[in-house]
Amino acid sequence: MDNKILQNLIVSNMSSEVNLRPLSGFKMDFSANPDFDKFFFAASCDCGTSALLSLEVSIHKTDDEINKALPSLIEKLQNQEKSFRSMNCTMHGMMRKGFIEDTK
Ligand SMILES: [Zn+2]
Repeated sequence: MDNKILQNLIVSNMSSEVNLRPLSGFKMDFSANPDFDKFFFAASCDCGTSALLSLEVSIHKTDDEINKALPSLIEKLQNQEKSFRSMNCTMHGMMRKGFIEDTK
């Protein structure tokens, strides 16, 4: 299955209450697993914090297998988005600082 088609499929199957932006053309260099196609999504909050979420699909899967696996992959992604949104902005601020305490 073509990457673009697959990404569109993911996006169109997401729940409408999920606020995720697909990052196309986003390439990570640490391609630890070349057997997987990675799709990246950004969840962002009004406070300016955003989280990078990703979803992996094995390149060896047939279209049929992908269609079957997709609902659970999307659910996983949506759960990640939900936990990002359920954090308050103090937590978001800490994420931005990489959990390093401000020492002034
Ligand atoms: Zn926030």
